[in-house]
Formats: sequence, C-alpha cells, structure tokens
Amino acid sequence: MTTALEEARPSSQSLPNFEQLGLSEPVRRAVADAGYTVPTPIQLAAIPLTLHGRDVIGLAQTGTGKTAAFTLPLIDRLLGGPKRTRALILTPTRELCQQVDESVRKYGRYAGLSSVSVYGGSPMDPQQRALRSGVDVIVATPGRLIDHVERQNVDLSELEILVLDEADRMLDMGFAPQLNRIVREIPSYRQTLLFSATMPPEVEVLARKYMRRPHVVEVSRRHAPAVTVKHAVYPVPREKKTRLLVELLRSPEMDSVLVFTRMKVGADRVVRNLVHEGIEAEALHADKTQAQRERALERFKSGELRVLVATDIAQRGLDISGISHVINFDVPQQPEDYVHRIGRTGRAAQTGDAFTFMSPDEIGTVRLIERVIGTQIDRVSVPGFDFGTVAEE
Ligand code: AMP
Repeated sequence: MTTALEEARPSSQSLPNFEQLGLSEPVRRAVADAGYTVPTPIQLAAIPLTLHGRDVIGLAQTGTGKTAAFTLPLIDRLLGGPKRTRALILTPTRELCQQVDESVRKYGRYAGLSSVSVYGGSPMDPQQRALRSGVDVIVATPGRLIDHVERQNVDLSELEILVLDEADRMLDMGFAPQLNRIVREIPSYRQTLLFSATMPPEVEVLARKYMRRPHVVEVSRRHAPAVTVKHAVYPVPREKKTRLLVELLRSPEMDSVLVFTRMKVGADRVVRNLVHEGIEAEALHADKTQAQRERALERFKSGELRVLVATDIAQRGLDISGISHVINFDVPQQPEDYVHRIGRTGRAAQTGDAFTFMSPDEIGTVRLIERVIGTQIDRVSVPGFDFGTVAEE
C-alpha cells in the first residue's frame, strides 16, 4: 500500500491553496464561498490524483474533509461535458446521502450541474421524476437505487465516475450484493473512488474487484481518532449513568452534545430521563420516521436543540459542525465505532471532548478500544459516581 501522506503533507511554511491543486475557477469560487482557504491533508492527497483520472482509495474518517476531497474534483471533471448521468455516489445511510448531496450542490453551484439524492424511507415519486428528468450526479443509498434501476428510472450505462463513500460501513450493513448489482449496470471503463475509515480485508476485496490500480491515500494512522479530541473514560455503575449525564450537562460548556447509546430503546430511555430532568433532548435512530430524523437533526445543527441521542446506525457520517461533546453512554462494541463516534467532534479547526461512560461490565471493551487506538484513555473519577468509590461507600 502506498501512502501519499508524506508527499502530500504541506511544509509548515507554504501551504498549497486550492488553485495549486489544479481545481478550476467555478469550483474554487464555491470553495471560497464555503470559507475554506487551506485544503485538508486528505484533500491535498486525493484531489490532484482524482483530477488526473486515477482510481483513488481514501482512508479517512468523517471530519477530515473527505467529502470535499472527492466532491470537488468530481465536479471539476464533469464541467462542461455532455448532459447525462455521469457520476454516482453511493453512501450507506440516508443522512449521509443527504449531506453528500448538499455538498455536491454547495460545491457545484457555479458549475451548472444538477444532482439528486435517492434514499429509502421517503416517497419514490419525486425521486423518480428527478431521475427521469436527467441529472448529472446521483447520490444514493444502494437499496433504493436498485429499486429505481429495476423500474428503469435511471440509466447508468454512460456513467464515468463511481464513488463508494464509507465503503466499510456499506459492507458492515450487508450491502455487498447490492453493490455488485449496481456495478453491473456501470461501464467498466470508469473512474472509481472509494472512501473508507478503515481497510478491513472485505474492503480490499471490493477494491480489487471494482478498481483499476488504485492509489491509496491515508491521512492518519488507520485507527487513529481525530487528533484534537480529548478523551476521557468515566467509570460509573450502569444504574448511575443517567444521573452522571445530567450532572455533566449542568456545565454550560456542554452546549452541543451528541450522546450515543447502543440500542434504540436505550436512546429513547435517555431522552425520556433527560426530559424528565428538564433537559430538552431528542432521539435519532432507525425507528424514527424520516421526517422526525430530519427535524431532530436540523434543530440540533441550528443550535436550537442542545442534546441529540443517537444509536450507532444513525451516527456514521453525520456532518454536524460545532459539536462540543460526544458522550458514549454505552461503550461502543467495536473499536472502529469508537473512532467513528468521536469523529463527530474534532472536525477541521475545532476541538471537542469525547467522554465514555464505563460500567464494570464494559471494562474489557474499553481495554480493547485502547489497544486498537494505541493509547490509554484518561480515567476521570466523579465522587459518588465512580464504581471504585461507590463500592467503598
Ligand atoms: P467531512 O470530513 O467531509 O465530513 O468534512 C468535515 C467538515 O470539514 C465539514 O463541515 C466541511 O465543511 C469542513 N471542511 C472541509 N474541507 C475544509 C477545508 N479545506 N477547510 C475547512 N473546513 C473544511
């Protein structure tokens, strides 16, 4: 595996700008509108390769600027070409699908391109109309796209660029057969970009199957979480977790808090308990309707809602800037999920704290996470909550 990190890392003196990366004017103008002046490391590495038509594997988690790393050069390559569906971006979840579509619109506003997002849980008809009217870029979740392919709403036979975003997550969610089905519709002579936070063997298999001599770019150590995040583990008996959460939420510094629970019922229970304590909170998980999920996310993003309680399935790729804290109410079962969860904070030029509540039965899982991320996480003891001290009472 080659890594472009060394070549791509700017010397601290002269940071390349977006023009030097080779992006053309309409794309640069949208970048300037977004307020970005300096490309992030994954953008430095992936943009020039993509502009040159190479297949690229980007190993980067959310928060690194990965969406722009593939969206900007993709838009650039589509500039001025024929009007037909030329690019497809596949994402694991509807939230990510919408966010990537938003990015395509934002960065493509001066490029005269049209895009549509296509995901399950919302009516087929408007998506069908948009697809049939002809769009340049489709952003889709795999299952729903297949529905449209089968209804012949969409023609992928002249596609030029395929992007698999969060490929590891798509495989985790069992989308491999759907990906196969979709790729069969796409010309083999195409450019393929694959982004993934991790590179398990299944993703390597996917890359070998779908890509031509891919160039791998990696911005941080495979499992390294975002550097600006400060981690802490709070040892606490399970039955005292809610009270500890309420206690921590008393701090005004906690102005935008994403709480993760393992189960949907757990998320609902935490919300109920917080509301009971007079703290407004909403849940985000798969049992909520699309409208409820969108509304909760909007309120949270706008700062109106201070606490959002989510399950893992809802968390991947959520682009929510300005989160002050991530709290793992339950310890994530998979070390990768820990990295993904805390990827919500520590975004470009921001700091955030990630707190994990650890009950006695979760000690082993925390140790495993620590082995994977390669550091020992600080333990913070709150008097009256730590099971060490509680046991002594
Ligand atoms: P992503 O990793 O794609 O989820 O992006 C994380 C966040 O970084 C998003 O809110 C982007 O708007 C922001 N971002 C992307 N590229 C840059 C950049 N070059 N400079 C500053 N912020 C950026």
